[in-house]
Amino acid sequence: MSALPDRKGRFGEFGGQFVPETLMPAVGELEREYKRWSRDAEFKKELDGLHREYTGRPTLLYHARRLSEHVGGAKIYLKREDLCHTGAHKINNALGQGLLAKRMGKKRIIAETGAGQHGVATATMTALMDMTCDVYMGVDDVQRQSLNVFRMKLLGANVSAVESGSRTLKDAINEAMRDWVTNIATTYYLVGSTMGPHPYPLIVRDFQSVIGKEARKQILKVEDRLPDVLIACVGGGSNAMGLFHPFLRDTNVRMIGVEAAGGGLDGGRHSASISKGEVGVLHGKKTYLLQDELGQIREAHSIAPGLDYPGVGPEHAWLHDTGRAEYRAITDEQAIEALQLLARTEGIVCALESSHAVAEAARVARDMSKDSIIVVNLSGRGDKDMPSVADYLGVEL
Ligand SMILES: *Cc1c(COP(=O)(O)O)cnc(C)c1O
Repeated sequence: MSALPDRKGRFGEFGGQFVPETLMPAVGELEREYKRWSRDAEFKKELDGLHREYTGRPTLLYHARRLSEHVGGAKIYLKREDLCHTGAHKINNALGQGLLAKRMGKKRIIAETGAGQHGVATATMTALMDMTCDVYMGVDDVQRQSLNVFRMKLLGANVSAVESGSRTLKDAINEAMRDWVTNIATTYYLVGSTMGPHPYPLIVRDFQSVIGKEARKQILKVEDRLPDVLIACVGGGSNAMGLFHPFLRDTNVRMIGVEAAGGGLDGGRHSASISKGEVGVLHGKKTYLLQDELGQIREAHSIAPGLDYPGVGPEHAWLHDTGRAEYRAITDEQAIEALQLLARTEGIVCALESSHAVAEAARVARDMSKDSIIVVNLSGRGDKDMPSVADYLGVEL
């Protein structure tokens, strides 16, 4: 199972390299270089060292006793990616690809960002590794996420506001791809999730798999067995793939990916690409996408900025179709409730993205016996979301 993607970069019918001819040399170069460095012992050692000394790995696997008691049923464990430097799992991928870019001799990094979290992780890495950084961001996102824009600039990055299209993430991605074609010789395009043309979904999954590898060791140490269920939220799909991948062959371990149902799956204001989308091609890959009758991409919605993308990583599309993983959806309201529940029972204020996973865990745990085990990926901390949460609850700050 984990032998995928195949040589064409496909997970079943999904994934692939749907890029203009001018980009083929760039993806080809990346494929060759990644193959080489991913097998290099020195590369691995350097990345492990960075994670230990800079990211703060291994992150804790925490038994949430009060939450489990409150819900009644299975034991819930939290994989604490919220404790990573910069407050979320995105740094795992940014550091991995940063080292890869360095080995490839590229000193200029470009990235796209929606809510700004991937932009901040990338700018953090380029500061640390002394590289230049240009981040593309839709104009509307620049206005909505001014705090993250300020953070990126403080870290030394340039932020380019993209005026075209819907002026959000998908237009920023188009602009980043255009830049990459033009500046291939000097520039590395750092994709932020299990997205884009092959080999990006593979690269990002591999760098995030540190989450699942650690969780596997940690649960075996404390419980002496594998968990019954893994749960993670799915935006592009990187924190979920990172947790799931090292367990793919363990067919007794159920996997549940949680999409954003936003205002409700029937209303059209959601980001549930697997639950409600159709197969299509966007940003270099074939996968489930939110589209209208004419195949135009529909705008996604979620209160969690990191889940707000109209597509999903191709490996998730495949895991869905093969039945190896299940996909559910949690509304804005349920996510807010779960965030409050976790805060009050455990003293942990998680990100709104992560609270989608917590909400689903509470739902699933109820119907399981007291000795069963759930591992939830707590992908990030909630500080960034406090204004949105307050606003949703009608509290003026
Ligand atoms: C970006 C983000 C996500 C969603 O991205 P994935 O690639 O699906 O993991 C989830 N949680 C947090 C905290 C994020 O910043």
